[in-house]
Amino acid sequence: MENTINGIHHITAIAGNAKRNYNFYTNVLGQRLVKKTVNFDDPETYHLYYGDQNGTPGSILTFFPWEGIQTGRRGARQATEIGYSVPKGSLDFWVNRFEKHNVIYNKAAEKFGEEYLTVLDPDGLKLELTVSKTADTRLPWETDEVKAENAIKGFHNVTITTNKMQPTADILTGVFGYKLLEQHVNRYRFVTDAVENANIVDLVEVAGEVAGHVAGGSVHHVAFRVANEDILMQYREKIAALGLHITDKIDRNYFYSLYFREPGGVLFEIATDNPGFAVDEAVEELGQNLKLPEQHERFRSALEKSLPKLF
Ligand code: ZN
Repeated sequence: MENTINGIHHITAIAGNAKRNYNFYTNVLGQRLVKKTVNFDDPETYHLYYGDQNGTPGSILTFFPWEGIQTGRRGARQATEIGYSVPKGSLDFWVNRFEKHNVIYNKAAEKFGEEYLTVLDPDGLKLELTVSKTADTRLPWETDEVKAENAIKGFHNVTITTNKMQPTADILTGVFGYKLLEQHVNRYRFVTDAVENANIVDLVEVAGEVAGHVAGGSVHHVAFRVANEDILMQYREKIAALGLHITDKIDRNYFYSLYFREPGGVLFEIATDNPGFAVDEAVEELGQNLKLPEQHERFRSALEKSLPKLF
């Protein structure tokens, strides 16, 4: 895990109503709200982070909930499916749960020899619950209704839809250390050996697919994981050397980040493990209180009034 890209760090998507988003991810899916903060660039909007107990990279799905935002459209140049890993034998539990909560889902299907359920979140974001064929020993967050034998363990994969897979594949293999594992029709599965989980990216090539529109219910960006800032900056050099525009290092309070648009059109981020989500509140209290970066702390009382109540 030295100088490598260690799979997915987090995925960020866009939602509409914040409370509806909170209810779905915590109550229905049984994820932990690990951080309640604001969009640093738009502090009147929440930035909600869901994941496992500690907010471990590889388990974190984050949202900007913009009330009333129009619905996006899935298409090319987008991350179009977010795959979670669930335990063997848990899919019946999830089907029953989705029935009970009126969640839209598809009957179980299979790809690359792995069974999965497709499910839409309340904004239409496409998720998959996949029973991985490789071991997933990660400990999940548990709730009263979603216990470990069924609980989501973190990410399994992310799917990117593209008109031409090769330029994106070149970034994955040439820079990020992934290799092509399997191909089925127009779906190419890439994996990195640097980590055991959250280490798969699927590229789906559809030449004629119209570009998607990023709005409600779509993925904003995919963040890949590195151990620390030194390694982060090594990747900055590598990306810049390809002639791609990449941002300076940005302090996101819980990690340090770089952003660049990969040639297939998806916004990629590279993010560090340090300092992590326990930097401003105890692990037992993660997600309980509104956390603000220093530059927005002076707006706290106004924000606490204007941001919608989640619980
Ligand atoms: Zn991000």
